[in-house]
Amino acid sequence: MSAMAHPTLKIDNARYVVTLDPERRIVRDGAVLVEGGRIARVGKAAELAAVGADRVIDARRMVVTPGFVNGHMHISYAHAVRGIFADDVGSPLPQVFKLQGAMTEEEEYLTSLLGIVELVRNGTVCFVDPGSTKFPDACLQAYQDSGIRVILGECVTDRDAPFPLPRYPADEAISRTAAFLKKWHGRLDGRLRAWAMPFSPETCSSELLRALKRLADEHGTSLTLHHNSGPKVRADYQPHGAASPTQYLEGLGVLGPNVVLAHVLGIDDAEIDCMARNGTTAAMCPVTAAKGGRGVPTHGRLPELLAKGVKVALGCDSPNNSNHLDIVRAMNMAALQYKDARQDMKMIPAETALELATLTGAQALGVGDEIGSLEPGKKADLLLFDTERPEWQALFNPISNLVYNADGRSVHTVVIDGRVVVDAYRQSFVDEPRLYAKVQEVGEKLLARTGVTPAPPRWPVV
Ligand SMILES: [Zn+2]
Repeated sequence: MSAMAHPTLKIDNARYVVTLDPERRIVRDGAVLVEGGRIARVGKAAELAAVGADRVIDARRMVVTPGFVNGHMHISYAHAVRGIFADDVGSPLPQVFKLQGAMTEEEEYLTSLLGIVELVRNGTVCFVDPGSTKFPDACLQAYQDSGIRVILGECVTDRDAPFPLPRYPADEAISRTAAFLKKWHGRLDGRLRAWAMPFSPETCSSELLRALKRLADEHGTSLTLHHNSGPKVRADYQPHGAASPTQYLEGLGVLGPNVVLAHVLGIDDAEIDCMARNGTTAAMCPVTAAKGGRGVPTHGRLPELLAKGVKVALGCDSPNNSNHLDIVRAMNMAALQYKDARQDMKMIPAETALELATLTGAQALGVGDEIGSLEPGKKADLLLFDTERPEWQALFNPISNLVYNADGRSVHTVVIDGRVVVDAYRQSFVDEPRLYAKVQEVGEKLLARTGVTPAPPRWPVV
């Protein structure tokens, strides 16, 4: 049975294997052996020449890396209505929640499935959906069929919000979260995890935040929430007796190594110290920050977070914020935007960007013992990048080419939990052209039903 579920796999003769092991070795002419869904050996192809496998993939034109983690990725509804929000004008949030609330189970299944197709084909093997999926029972099929790792939660609040978020009395929000963790955590052979997901410190009472952190601790799982700061936000927390939202959370006992703060724009040095001393981690969405004009030169603190040892994952946020679901492009943005913001080319080197997408990101999400690097004993989550493409020429430094030249379209093969999920660019869990047509139809129906009018192109459509 286990041999059937996990045939052995050998990635052979790889041009480079980028291991992310403690020495950060890059193995030229490398091989990776996968047994029982885990990495058994990593080394020179010559050393592993005598070892066979049920399937051998010839990787002589490939660069092998760990699979990517995506720490903040709302995939629920937005694939059906991409581009309707007058990009370059204003925040789509009020309409986002209206559209999200109007999705049916079947619609959410289809749009989530398309989101997952885009994620895995661009190399994401594990993503956090920060509470946007309303129908996890319906979407379970998509998680199962695709083989991706997913971290889910139910978004809850118990206070007013500037947009229509799911709001409950505190005790109901707590019991819903408890039921969600109990029902979902650990399903799909552990590929599905469930976290507590209060929307933000501003939209939840202190009692609710405390109770959800306690639940996460009791279940051995994590908590994530949207978290931004800045001078005005810090001033708002003075009446709470806290210098900032971050210290406010610390005072409640809501920070810790199982708490992931999303976005963290505008945090000051004291807040970074606060995160560091509590082991709190972050998920940052560099493309959303840039596209939303969020002022990375002033509010982006990624270099300081990393300097203090805070673990950070990258996220693509949503198909209507970052728009694309490609962590390679997010790495590129993270590497470039701090160079420009600080007028310093040494900021966020390519190697650091790759760490954020792999090992450091996995550590930020509490899964660093299982995935994020190619080392014996870890789960076999890995990517093969096709170097037979113009953007990969000429090849002397695979990390430089990956972060600065390539994008997710050169992801050739994706292995998750030892299973080949994308095989030579093709996934086999869904008929893509049929799915595209269905999702277009979902979008048209959803707009008609909600009365949301898409912003037309600003150029004449004739
Ligand atoms: Zn979010």
